[in-house]
Amino acid sequence: MTDVTSTWTEPSNTPLALLLLGKATDPASERGVDCPGDLPAPSDPDLVARATAAKAALGDRVFVLGHHYQRDEVIQFADVTGDSFKLAQQAAARPDAEFIVFCGVHFMAESADILTTPSQRVILPDLAAGCSMADMAVLGQVETAWEHFQDLGITDQIVPVTYMNSSADIKGFVGRNDGVVCTSSNAKRALDWSFEQGSKVFFLPDQHLGRNTAVLEMGFELDDCVLYDPHKPQGGLTDEQLINARMILWRGHCSVHGRFTIDSVREVRERVPGVNVLVHPECRHDVVRAADYVGSTEYIIKALDAAPSGSAWAVGTELNLVRRLALAHPDKQIMFLDRAVCYCSTMNRIDLPHLVWTLEELVAGRVPNVITVDEKTAREARVALDRMLALP
Ligand code: SF4
Repeated sequence: MTDVTSTWTEPSNTPLALLLLGKATDPASERGVDCPGDLPAPSDPDLVARATAAKAALGDRVFVLGHHYQRDEVIQFADVTGDSFKLAQQAAARPDAEFIVFCGVHFMAESADILTTPSQRVILPDLAAGCSMADMAVLGQVETAWEHFQDLGITDQIVPVTYMNSSADIKGFVGRNDGVVCTSSNAKRALDWSFEQGSKVFFLPDQHLGRNTAVLEMGFELDDCVLYDPHKPQGGLTDEQLINARMILWRGHCSVHGRFTIDSVREVRERVPGVNVLVHPECRHDVVRAADYVGSTEYIIKALDAAPSGSAWAVGTELNLVRRLALAHPDKQIMFLDRAVCYCSTMNRIDLPHLVWTLEELVAGRVPNVITVDEKTAREARVALDRMLALP
């Protein structure tokens, strides 16, 4: 791993940097589930050696996937790194691996289970690694909204589109209602396809990706978009608003990317003249508008790889990734867009003790924390995923 560079400045800590999660099972959320078994102590000096030995003992039986937002201590053991979609594809491309250890969050492991063979088992090293955005769209809420659209007689005009960052049952809902999954890389293509099938899109669960794509990439007006709040009667919208809207956005967001503000952009421009502001489309609309570049995690990595030596970049995405990119490019001034720490607290649940515990359990012949999607949900979600894969 690259040593610390002189250009990287660690953002300051805040009480919100790592949100505390519950310990007991929470059936309404992906989070707050204790791991069974004895985790090694984080202070154990042999953790790296233990992970190395367990992985070597498992050989080709195990394939370790590492999301870009994972900690360095975990990423060093990943056979492949990527965003959620790339990792699901990589899992599907390894049918011989008996165990897929997914160092990411719950919805990603579900997608990997849907795309892998029935004999493969997908394992999440910490069951508390959920996603707050995915939790913001619960199937019952979405079905209630859909029933309301049916009462208004508009469902035959609506194509449901869900971001990859959603639970398997939301992808299943979208699959059985003739919709499509999208990622932050192909959201425009998914919307282009959807508007060929109907005149409205019901976009789940990230309002910002939906709004940013429709307004900044497809030329829609902000007034073409309405925000459906599942906690308000009829979504907090009048019948007329729903009938006239072109984009019905679910009120969900990423708690990490949603923290960047227009003030963060102003502040960094004043502090670093000539800085390029590069943000993820999960950021708020005003932040994306104020940025110089916007794109998916893979886009951000490529943009910084290609950036000229000596250039300055303020990056609005998860901190583990920004720090890793800064250390990989010591000739460029790469900084975090915000002055305060902003990790994805659930991604950070996967740490080296959990990875060691998982690998050693597998060596011992026990298979912990298997993520399984039921057959019907998997079949319907697969339809929506396959439509995405077939996008032009
Ligand atoms: S960064 Fe945001 S969208 Fe990604 S897993 Fe964390 S909370 Fe979910």
